[in-house]
Amino acid sequence: MGRKKETVTYSSTFSTSVREGSMGAGVQFASTLDPLSDQNSNVVEHYRPRVSYYMREQAGNFHYGKQHPMKPHRLTLTNHLVLNYGLHKYMDVYEPRRATEEEIRQFHAADYIDFLKRVTPDNQNEFGNCFSEFNIGDDCPIFDGMWDFCRIYSGASIEAARKLISGASDIAVNWMGGLHHAKKYEPSGFCYVNDIVLAILQLLRYYPRVLYVDIDIHHGDGVQEAFYTTDRVMTCSFHKYNGEFFPGTGAIDEMGSGLGKFYAINVPLQDGIDDRSYTQLFKTVMTAVMETFKPGAIVLQCGADSLGLDRLGVFNLSIAAHGECVKFMRRFGVPMMVIGGGGYTIRNVARCWTYETGIVCGADLPDQLPNTVYNEFFAPDYSLHPQLSGRVVNHNSRPYLNALTARILEQLRYLKGAPSVQMQEAPPDIQGFLESEEHRQKDIDDDKNKDKKEDRSGRREHIAELYEGDHDHDAEDSSSVLDI
Ligand SMILES: [Zn+2]
Repeated sequence: MGRKKETVTYSSTFSTSVREGSMGAGVQFASTLDPLSDQNSNVVEHYRPRVSYYMREQAGNFHYGKQHPMKPHRLTLTNHLVLNYGLHKYMDVYEPRRATEEEIRQFHAADYIDFLKRVTPDNQNEFGNCFSEFNIGDDCPIFDGMWDFCRIYSGASIEAARKLISGASDIAVNWMGGLHHAKKYEPSGFCYVNDIVLAILQLLRYYPRVLYVDIDIHHGDGVQEAFYTTDRVMTCSFHKYNGEFFPGTGAIDEMGSGLGKFYAINVPLQDGIDDRSYTQLFKTVMTAVMETFKPGAIVLQCGADSLGLDRLGVFNLSIAAHGECVKFMRRFGVPMMVIGGGGYTIRNVARCWTYETGIVCGADLPDQLPNTVYNEFFAPDYSLHPQLSGRVVNHNSRPYLNALTARILEQLRYLKGAPSVQMQEAPPDIQGFLESEEHRQKDIDDDKNKDKKEDRSGRREHIAELYEGDHDHDAEDSSSVLDI
């Protein structure tokens, strides 16, 4: 059970896209990001986070089906742009291990996992009776390698969470993850395994409070549902809501229950919201959330279907405005996971997530896209910031947005007065975490010897290694029960 480690070898994986001497031309490392217009005492100036980035080339090769809007190929496009902008020079890049079944079982039901593991396009007829039970259909088809795909994107989110806990990274980026609709017993909305819930469960072992923020156009229902009754996770979702738009939930009065009352925040929006309205609303709400909840870690789901011209979306956001949300959350200087999600006009998904990778690194990317073997996707402008807005009329009136804001701020004021906001310092499972890390590190230590840095466990870690880890489960700790 050894963790296999290799030196980063982009050239073997992305040989056509990365050429020495051509990487990163024009990328500027910003000395500081633009100051916020609104002063905020929680903001950390001159923040220089250590960023880790998780990618697996195979993740881009899965197919949901020819007509299906979810195209994992967007991950390949994103990685090629990220690498050819040279952003890997500002990050630790990892090829993460797959999640183990045991890890996935920390949220999902055993019989559902068993189904996911066993069913294939070839044998699916034998499972006919299970399809309605497990919500299999057009949205969530059975496709080749489905279980492997789930393990890849979930493993990356779990690794990213652990990297934050260990202190080896301040921001961890996994564009493969963010599948926020998956439920404990069934898939939903193209999502089979909820990597976000799994990652947050990891974070809760160390951080007393975790904030989940979701800027996908769809309501982050799977995550909200998982943590609806706890005050240790605040979920905050900005999405289109009219009671019918998928998944049909996310009304403003869904606020959590029991101990979790007021800890679910929903920001229901109408079609066509524009940059100015969205970013203003986002900043106002998130400023209040950060002041009130004071999270130890943030998980930011960056679904790109909230962009204008999305195949399924109906908002008007530009890539700059979408990225502004990432920039805003980064400035709080709180350990943060940045993950993907929806996004169905894949040329713009790749642009958006590349831009946001630049943001977390503090790099200003030139508008001219670098050359990749996928150039044709970005014709005719080949730019990072094409015009995306204007297709949909903005149905969010100023009075509507004002009322929405007032209502959410009021909810946060309730939370401030609630007993549970005494911010109970639930005993984190840091001992268990450190023990499992120690085990993992032992394998790493056996064959490492250079470019090291401290992590929170007091051990040291290679700065630019490529983790390869199917044999690297070391999930001995995964049987621990997470009592949140
Ligand atoms: Zn979505």
